[in-house]
Amino acid sequence: AKAKIAVNGYGTIGKRVADAVKAQDDMEIIGVSKTRPNYEAIVAQQLGYDIYAPAANLEAFEKAGVPTAGTIEEMVEKADLVVDCTPGGVGEQNKPMYEKAGVKAIWQGGESHPIAGFSFNAVCNYEQAIGRDLVRVVSCNTTALCRVIFPIDKELGVKKVRAILARRAADPNDVKKGPINAIVPDPAKLPSHHGPDVRSVLPNINITSAALKIPTTLMHVHTVNMELNTNCTAEDVKNILGSQSRIHFVGQGISSTAEIIEFARDIGRPRNDMWENCIWPESVTVTENELYFFQAVHQESIVVPENVDAIRAMMELESDGAKSIEKTNKALGL
Ligand code: NAD
Repeated sequence: AKAKIAVNGYGTIGKRVADAVKAQDDMEIIGVSKTRPNYEAIVAQQLGYDIYAPAANLEAFEKAGVPTAGTIEEMVEKADLVVDCTPGGVGEQNKPMYEKAGVKAIWQGGESHPIAGFSFNAVCNYEQAIGRDLVRVVSCNTTALCRVIFPIDKELGVKKVRAILARRAADPNDVKKGPINAIVPDPAKLPSHHGPDVRSVLPNINITSAALKIPTTLMHVHTVNMELNTNCTAEDVKNILGSQSRIHFVGQGISSTAEIIEFARDIGRPRNDMWENCIWPESVTVTENELYFFQAVHQESIVVPENVDAIRAMMELESDGAKSIEKTNKALGL
């Protein structure tokens, strides 16, 4: 039987996780939750998902003509595992509901590490997630940093990492957030939490970061600097990064995040998703054991394959992380 998965919070991350799970042959979506009967609820219905809602809002759904299958608590009861994709901070309030129902749960990077006591990235610690009941899939920025630090540390030894993050200010559908005409140190107090969050997955990495919020919605861009323990060339680093299935070298005249998203549209990616870290190969530079490069991060989608792998580990559907990654990638078309 397929693992029964529920998505609680059908927003930017939740809708993508639902479609990604649906594409796998060893798991299925038994329901998604919506708080309001808006256009996203109607699309979810058209995509064939059973919709669950807070008990207090069921009437609003009925009035709007959007059929529901029950309350969120009822959805959780039916699931083997809930992927909580509610906004940061809300996920924590849902924990007692999952414990009461005795279901496994995954939270996203908007929650902090202690919520699950285990922070996940597929290449770094898949095997440690096998059979676990509670997992946190780290944020878009942390995922992107983990994917590059882990293989370089394994091959060359990473002495320290310093990362500067230019962060998209809002997601494309977000009409409420700014800035629209400013660059905001976010936070101004250094270091930012992003780099240090890598240690929730890779505890032995020396890393700090600084982050700036910039008026764009498409992607983040990281300037990554690593001091390495081993003498090496830029070619050595490119060979290591090039061996990773979730790292993509941008080329063919792509000079910006705008063109990466256009490329994703052109190759027919769902919702123009780029699940891979996008690295400019010409930026990979090594000077006296110091490595530099630029990577772009599609914040809306990079954590989606990681959620699928986390499910596979927790549900004990595959014991080998590399095999799970390959299976997820194949089903998604990555
Ligand atoms: P979102 O606001 O796009 O979606 C959240 C959804 O949850 C919305 O549909 C909202 O209506 C619903 N919701 C709110 N309260 C709820 C409740 N009590 N019960 C059920 N549903 C509820 O948020 P998002 O961007 O998808 O972020 C979700 C999580 O993923 C956060 O932890 C965030 O930090 C993390 N994350 C976001 C991004 C990103 O760039 N958007 C990237 C990586 C990780």
